[in-house]
Amino acid sequence: MIFHVLTIFPEFFEGPFAHGVVKRAKDAGLLDIRIHNLRDWTHDRHKTVDDRPFGGDEGMVLKCEPIFAAVESIWPEKRADQKTVLLSAQGRLFDQAVAKRLGGNAELLLICGRYEGVDERVAEHLADEEISIGNYVLSGGELAAAVVIDTVARLIPGVLGNEASSEFESFSETGHGEGLLDCPHWTRPADFRGWKVPEVLLNGNHAEIKKFRKASAKEKTSRFRPDLMR
Ligand code: SAH
Repeated sequence: MIFHVLTIFPEFFEGPFAHGVVKRAKDAGLLDIRIHNLRDWTHDRHKTVDDRPFGGDEGMVLKCEPIFAAVESIWPEKRADQKTVLLSAQGRLFDQAVAKRLGGNAELLLICGRYEGVDERVAEHLADEEISIGNYVLSGGELAAAVVIDTVARLIPGVLGNEASSEFESFSETGHGEGLLDCPHWTRPADFRGWKVPEVLLNGNHAEIKKFRKASAKEKTSRFRPDLMR
C-alpha cells in the first residue's frame, strides 16, 4: 500500500515512521510512505501557501490552488482505489472500522491542514473524506496523518509479525469479544512487590485462560468504555 502525505512540514515525518513495525514493513516493501512538500506547487518567490480568510477573522487559511495542483499531479488520473483524505477537526471521527475501510485502498493521500484550516473547497471538491482523530484541536494535520497511517499500516497483511495479532486487539470484531477492549496482559516476574499475576495464567490450562481473558476484557471494557458494551 502507498501512503502520500501533503504537508508544509515534510521534516516532521522523519521520526514517526522510523521505528518498529512500520519501519520494518517499509523496509520489506509492504508499504511505501511518500512525503510531498506543498510549497513545491507554489509559483511565487515566497512559496505562499496561505492567505487571510474572507469575511475577516483571526489567522490564516491554506489556499486551495497548491493543494489541488499537488493532488492532481500526484494522481493525474485518479483510480477508485486511490483516496484523498483531509485531516480536519470537523471531519468524521476516525476509529478502527474507518482504518479497516481505508486499508482496502491501494493508495491514500493525506492532506495536512495548518493555521485556521484549509479552504473549504478542498473538503467539498477534492477530498474523498474529511477525517478527525478526536474531539480536540491540534495545531496541524501532521500528527493526525501519522496516527492514521500507523493504524492503517498495521492492518496490512504481513505488517505485524504474527498474522493473528491484530485480530485479538481492542476494537476488533474478531477478538475476545465483539469490538471490546483487549484483555490485560502480564509478563515476568509473576510477583512484583507483592502484586501477583492472576493464577489462572500460570497453570497452562488453555481453555481456562481463554475464558479468563474474555471475562477480563469484558470487565475492563465495562469499567472504562461502557459505550462499547452491547
Ligand atoms: N479552526 C479549526 C482548527 C484548525 S487546526 C477548527 O476549529 O476546527 C489546523 C489543522 O490541524 C487543521 O486544518 C487539521 O488539518 C488539523 N487538525 C486539528 N485538529 C484535528 C483533529 N482533531 N483531527 C485531525 N486533524 C486535526
